[in-house]
Amino acid sequence: MNADDLFLGTESGNDAYREAIARASEAVVAAFAEREDPYSGASPERLAGQFSDPVVPAAGEPLETVIDDVAERVLAHSVGTSNPRCAAHLQCPPMIPGLAAETLLTATNQSLDSFDQAPAATVLEQRVVAALCELFGLSSGADGVFTSGGTQSNFQALLLARDRHCARRFDRDTQADGLPAAADSLRICCSADAHFTAKQAAHHLGLGEDAVVTVPTDDDRRLDPDALDATLDRLDRDGAEPFALVATAGTTDFGAIDPLADLADAADARDLWFHVDAAYGGALAVSDDHGHLLDGIERADSIAVDFHKLFYQPISCGALLLRDGRDFEWMARNAAYLNPEAHDEAGVPNLVAKSVQTTRRFDALKPYVACRTLGRAGLASLVDRTIDLADDAAALVDAADDFELVREPALNAVVFRYRPDDAMDDRTVSRLNAAVRSELLRDGRAVVARTEVEGVTSLKFTLLNPTATIDDVAAMLDAIRDCGATVAADREVAA
Ligand SMILES: *Cc1c(COP(=O)(O)O)cnc(C)c1O
Repeated sequence: MNADDLFLGTESGNDAYREAIARASEAVVAAFAEREDPYSGASPERLAGQFSDPVVPAAGEPLETVIDDVAERVLAHSVGTSNPRCAAHLQCPPMIPGLAAETLLTATNQSLDSFDQAPAATVLEQRVVAALCELFGLSSGADGVFTSGGTQSNFQALLLARDRHCARRFDRDTQADGLPAAADSLRICCSADAHFTAKQAAHHLGLGEDAVVTVPTDDDRRLDPDALDATLDRLDRDGAEPFALVATAGTTDFGAIDPLADLADAADARDLWFHVDAAYGGALAVSDDHGHLLDGIERADSIAVDFHKLFYQPISCGALLLRDGRDFEWMARNAAYLNPEAHDEAGVPNLVAKSVQTTRRFDALKPYVACRTLGRAGLASLVDRTIDLADDAAALVDAADDFELVREPALNAVVFRYRPDDAMDDRTVSRLNAAVRSELLRDGRAVVARTEVEGVTSLKFTLLNPTATIDDVAAMLDAIRDCGATVAADREVAA
C-alpha cells in the first residue's frame, strides 16, 4: 500500500479515508445492526478456531478485504449492544450523535495532555467539565477531568483523598516521599454493595484491599447511616484512620442509591473525603422525575460519572469532578516538555496535571455533541423511559408463576430468578439459573446477566436500551423458559 493512501492530507489519502469509513459503517449496519438476535451463540472454542490464521502475514491485504472479513468473523459474533434483548450489563447501545463524535475525535487524534496537542479540545473539555459541575450543583471552585471510566475516576478520587489526608494529618508529602509510617491504619468506608473498584483502588494505592471497610446496607440495599456511625466508632476505638467515605449512586446489581445527604453529614462530622461513585446513576441529574434521588451529591468532594452507561456514549467516556478544583494539586507535576511551570504562570492550560493518563482521548466531545443534539429534555426522556420499562418488567416478572422477583428495581436493573416450581429449594434454583444462563449464551435470543443474591444464583436484566419495549422483556422471559426446558431435558437424558 502506498503511504499516500494511508494518511489523511493528500487527495488520495482523503479519498481512501472516505471509502474506508463508508465501508466500515456499511459493515456495521449489515453484519451487526441488522441482525435479529443479540448474539450468534458461538462458543469460545468456535471463536478461537476461526482466528487461527496469522495476525501478521508476510504480505498485506487490501483494506476492504480485511474490513469485510472483520464484519464476517468479528462483528457477526459480537454482542449486539444495540439490540433491545441485549440486557446483561451496564453496556449501553451507543447513540448516533456519540458515534459521529467518535469519528470526529479519532480522526483528528487530539491529545489532551498539552494545549499544543489539542488547542480547541483543551478549552472545550474544560467547558464541558464546567457544565457537568453545574449539572451536579457543585459550586464555583469546582473542576474536573475526563477519564476512561468509573475505575479510573474512583482510583483518582481515592488517590487525592489519601494524599490530602496524609498531608494534613501526618504532614507527609506522599507524592515525593511515599506512604507515611502510619499507612497501615488508613481506612476507606463504603457499603457492602459498593463496586469492587474501591478495593482495587486501595490495592493500587498501596493500602491493600483490607483497608476498605464495608458497612451493612438497609432493606433497600442502601448504605445504612446508623451502621456507618457504629463502624466509624469502632474504627476510632481500634485506632484506625478512616479518611474517605465512598457512597454509591446506582449499585451494579440493584441500582440502589445510598442516602447521599445523610452520608455527606457523616463525612462532614468526621472530616472524611466524601466521594460519590455515580458511574451508573449520575445520569439521573438530567431527569426532572428522578433527579431528586441524587440530592446531597452537590456536597461531595468528588464525583465519578460515566458517559458510556446511562448517557449512551461509546466506550470509553467518564469524568471525575471535584468540588474544590484545588485538590488536583495533590497530584500535579510539571514535565518540562508538556507543562513547564512557566506555562502555568502564563495561563496556558495543560490538562496533563489533572490526569493519571498522559496521552489522553478527547472523549469530552461525545457528551458535548450528544447534549447539544438532544438537549436536557431529550437526554432525560431516554433515562426516564428505561426506568419506567424496568418497573413494567418487574411487574411482569412478579405476575409470572414461574419467575420470582428478587427486589423492586431502584433504577433500571431487574434481578429475578427462574423458579418453575414453588417447592424448588434454593440450591436447585441456583443450579438451574446458572445452567439457564449458560444455555442462553448458546441460544443467543437474549443476553442476560447472572449474579448472586444472598447466596442464590439469580438472573438480571439491565434495561438500558430506550428502544426496548415490554414485548422485548416478554420475549426474553420466553427465551429463558425455553432454555429452562432444554436444561431440564438434558438432565433427564443424563439421568
Ligand atoms: C461501571 C461502574 C464502575 C466501573 O466503571 P468503568 O467505567 O467500567 O471503569 C464503578 N462503579 C460503578 C458503580 C459502576 O457502575
